[in-house]
Amino acid sequence: MRNLTIATLGSHSALQILKGAKDEGFKNLVICTPERLSLYRSYDNFIDEVIEIDSWKNFPKLEKELVKKNCIIIPHGSFVAYLGLEENKKMKVPYFGNKQVLDWEEDRKMQRYWMEEAKIKVPRQFKKGDKINRPVIVKSYGAAGGKGYFMARNQKEFDKKIQTYTAKRFMVQEYIIGVPIYFHFFFSPLTNKMEFMSVDKRYETNVDSLGRIPALSQRGLKIEPTFEVVGNIPLTVRESMLAEVMNMSDRVVTVSQKLMPPKGLFGPFCLEAIITSSEEIYVIEISARIVAGTNCFINGSPYTYLLYDEPMSTGRRIAREIKLAIQKNKLNSILD
Ligand code: AMP
Ligand code: AMP
Repeated sequence: MRNLTIATLGSHSALQILKGAKDEGFKNLVICTPERLSLYRSYDNFIDEVIEIDSWKNFPKLEKELVKKNCIIIPHGSFVAYLGLEENKKMKVPYFGNKQVLDWEEDRKMQRYWMEEAKIKVPRQFKKGDKINRPVIVKSYGAAGGKGYFMARNQKEFDKKIQTYTAKRFMVQEYIIGVPIYFHFFFSPLTNKMEFMSVDKRYETNVDSLGRIPALSQRGLKIEPTFEVVGNIPLTVRESMLAEVMNMSDRVVTVSQKLMPPKGLFGPFCLEAIITSSEEIYVIEISARIVAGTNCFINGSPYTYLLYDEPMSTGRRIAREIKLAIQKNKLNSILD
C-alpha cells in the first residue's frame, strides 16, 4: 500500500480526495495548471506532490510518469470537462470506477433509460417536433455545472432563444418547480452495502438571487435565470424522505449492473433531485462520481457520523475502499 499514490486533477473536490488519501495512509499527488499551484502548494501539510501542467491537452504525456509512480486516478466532476470523454476512457493509469458508466452518464438519452428502468421519476423530455406546452429548461450534454442552460416558458420563447444557443447537443426538459436537493451515496462492491453519505443544495447564479429582488423591481430589467454553480450548502432532509431515496439508490445500482455489466455503478454517486410541493422526488440527473457538494463534509457529515466513529468524507471513503480492496486482494475489481 505504501507504494501506491492516489492522484487527481487540481479542481472540484481534489482537496477532499487528497486529504482522504493521506488520512488512510496513502501517498498523494495532484496535477494542476500554473494558476492553481499556489493553492495546492499551500496545503503541503497533506499534499505530497504537485505536478504542474501547462494545459490539460498535455495530460496524456504525463501518463507514463503516473503509471511509473504507481498512481491510482480518482475521477471527479472536472475530468470530462477538462480532458474530454474519450481521453477519460483512453487513460492508461489505473482509474477508480467503471469506465462503462461514463457513456451512460454523459449521454442524456441513455441516462434517462437507466433512470426509467430503475423506476425513478424523471422530468418529461421534449423530443424534436414535440409542442412545448409548459416551462422547460434547455441543457447541454456533459457535466457543465449548470453553465449555458436556459429556461423558456413556452414554445414561442423556446423558438426565439434557441436561435442564439451555441451548444450542439442539448436536451429540452420540463422545468420542475420545487427545491433542488443533491443526495450523495457510496456503494461498496466489497461489502455490498449502500452508504448514505450526505446532502447538499447548490448555490447557483443568478437563479438563487432572483428571490432577493421583488418582482416589481425586476420588471423591465429583462433578467433571465441562469444556473451556474458557485458553491454548495450543507443540508439534512426529512428522515421519511431518506427512506425513499435510499430505495431509489439501490434500484439505480441494481439496474446499472445489468446495463454496465458485470460491475455496474460503484463508489460515490449523486442523485440530483427536485422535490415538489406534493413531495414528489424527480431526479434531474445522476452524477456517477464524487460530486463537489461533498466538499461541505470534509470533516464528515451528520450521516457519516452515524456510520463511522471518525470523520469520514466521501474522498476518504474512496481511499478506504481502495485499502479494503488491497486487504481482500481485490484491487483489480475496483479499478478500470
Ligand atoms: P472548475 O475547475 O471549478 O472550473 O470546474 C470544472 C468543472 O467541474 C465545471 O465545469 C463543473 O462542471 C464542475 N464543477 C466544479 N465545481 C462544481 C460544483 N461545486 N458543483 C458542480 N459542478 C462543479
Ligand atoms: P444539472 O446540471 O442537471 O445538475 O442542473 C443544474 C441546475 O439547473 C439544478 O441545480 C437546477 O437548479 C436547475 N435544473 C436542472 N434541471 C431542472 C429541471 N428539470 N427543473 C428545474 N430546475 C432544473
